[in-house]
Amino acid sequence: MKRTRGFWCALAFVVVMAALPLIPATPEFWITLLNYIGLSTLVVLGLVLLTGIAGLTSFGQATFVGIGAYATGYLCIAHGFSPWLTLPIGLALTAALAYCIGAITMRLSGHYLPLGTIAWSISFFYLFGNMEALGKYDGLNGLPPIRMLGYSLEHGRDIFYLIWLFVVLAIVATRNLLDSRPGRAIRALRGGVGMAESFGVDTAHYRIVAFVYAALLASVSGWLYAHLQRSINPTPFGLNAGIEYLFMAVAGGAGHVWGAVLGAFMVTLSKDQLQDLLPRLLGSNGNFEIIVFGVLLVFLLQRAPDGLWPLITRWFGGSAQSARALPHAADAAALESRARPAARQIVLQVDRLRKQFGGLVAVSDVSFALRAGEIVGLIGPNGAGKSTTFNLITGVLSLSAGAVSFCGERIDAATPRHIARQGIGRTFQHVQLLPGMSVLENVALGAHLRSDVGLWRAALRLDRKEEARLMACAQRQLERVGLGSFSGELAGNLALGQQRILEIARALALDPVLLLLDEPAAGLRYQEKLALAEVLRQLRAEGMSILLVEHDMELVMSLTDHLIVMNFGSLLAEGTPGEVSANPLVREAYLGELEESVPDHG
Ligand code: ADP
Ligand code: MG
Repeated sequence: MKRTRGFWCALAFVVVMAALPLIPATPEFWITLLNYIGLSTLVVLGLVLLTGIAGLTSFGQATFVGIGAYATGYLCIAHGFSPWLTLPIGLALTAALAYCIGAITMRLSGHYLPLGTIAWSISFFYLFGNMEALGKYDGLNGLPPIRMLGYSLEHGRDIFYLIWLFVVLAIVATRNLLDSRPGRAIRALRGGVGMAESFGVDTAHYRIVAFVYAALLASVSGWLYAHLQRSINPTPFGLNAGIEYLFMAVAGGAGHVWGAVLGAFMVTLSKDQLQDLLPRLLGSNGNFEIIVFGVLLVFLLQRAPDGLWPLITRWFGGSAQSARALPHAADAAALESRARPAARQIVLQVDRLRKQFGGLVAVSDVSFALRAGEIVGLIGPNGAGKSTTFNLITGVLSLSAGAVSFCGERIDAATPRHIARQGIGRTFQHVQLLPGMSVLENVALGAHLRSDVGLWRAALRLDRKEEARLMACAQRQLERVGLGSFSGELAGNLALGQQRILEIARALALDPVLLLLDEPAAGLRYQEKLALAEVLRQLRAEGMSILLVEHDMELVMSLTDHLIVMNFGSLLAEGTPGEVSANPLVREAYLGELEESVPDHG
């Protein structure tokens, strides 16, 4: 296997770090700083996932450091527990608390979310400071050192290895997680919530998963801190510390795992230097470094909004988007597929469907049916209500009146998630992809419901078999639509037409019974349109039912079995392409547009 330059850099970093405490000449002070950098890295890694990747800003991570620290402090001092027993207890307590706090605050959006995290961060600071059992503002003193393999980790040089072992484990686990089924769901939280829900991703659940994961890393950091310091008080677990952690994440590069390490290094080292330098320059004492950090942060956000890690990787000639090796997809077993309705059986029944936006009736009492193995075209001028009809069928919008049944089951009150589970796959009129994710991963998101790998299996890398099956499925769908050779490309680098085709592959990955395509040919060149038509014909031959919104009349007329024409929200006409194109009402609505494009359909 060919090693990348990044691998050698990481290896050199590990070797230097491992050697430092063994060299007697290394100043004690360096070790202390490195220990604190390791502790911060753990917390910031959580923030990379939570804030950088999932887009959920938290100022309150120091609280969970405090919970880990106080849990072990209290249990060791008041009850004589061993630190190795308090670690799992502290983690369980953190998970329970984070779950409750997350269930409330992670629903908030926009500015309310960071404000929410500030609120509970302040509350916990006062709680720590006012509880008799936790020693109030004086805190707890005389914690025992951690004992390991017969050694007591009393000195900085001893606990150094334990701290950095946890950092390495956390880096590996986080990288594993990001490259997995739950990881893709978490990566979709930023900018892809509606799309992800349409493929069955429970985004509210994954917000909490990301939050609890970040809290657990912070809690481990607190446990280590308590036994390094041997005494704790509320100050390092307050809002200031929370802001500093967030600063580290943003400065390092909140979207990248290695950005956490870089951020923790930079901020800890420069804070140390500034605390020396500034009082000497200014001639008086005070926390002046906070002001410098504030100015630096503004500068950074303007010059390098993604933090410094992407800049550094670019200097080294690499890409910040580390392409991970794909699991061996070739010999992966195919995913199970769902049972399909018999040919000609009614798949979708829309009955007097109605949608009002205030005074505007966007869809007015529209009824139609779609049978298995049929391509039905839904056409009409702009604003006729076609996309709204799609959104009503897929549960994105709620109905004003009417009924929608899918394979005999009413779905008009169901959520997009439930509808996806039933077997309706869709594309969007305005392409909804995750541009920073590979083409293959975008498609794999469509197969989310066909696997059940969760957080821990992913973090521990016990998901490779299932992951290989998902990836093989995604690759097959890409080949089906003719994008097989683009799987490693970033989705954002594709041309718009290709992105639309990618959306079809993603919908196919769901193993749908019914496919809803909203203007799939928009932006395609002539040859690409022909290829698309061929793909859709092939799908129909395999028994797929397709509802197609499309403006290209030649494509619609040559491809569809049945046409539904909407105008101003109402059903204008329906029938075979031949019948519809002969209909004077339709001709009027289209102002003769049909004439040139209708082939002899009889
Ligand atoms: P089409 O897809 O056929 O071009 P749409 O279904 O997008 O048309 O829109 C139908 C009508 O409903 C348009 O007049 C549009 O402005 C209106 N409309 C669509 N979505 C909304 C919405 N969320 N709020 C208000 N009006 C909407
Ligand atoms: Mg539309």
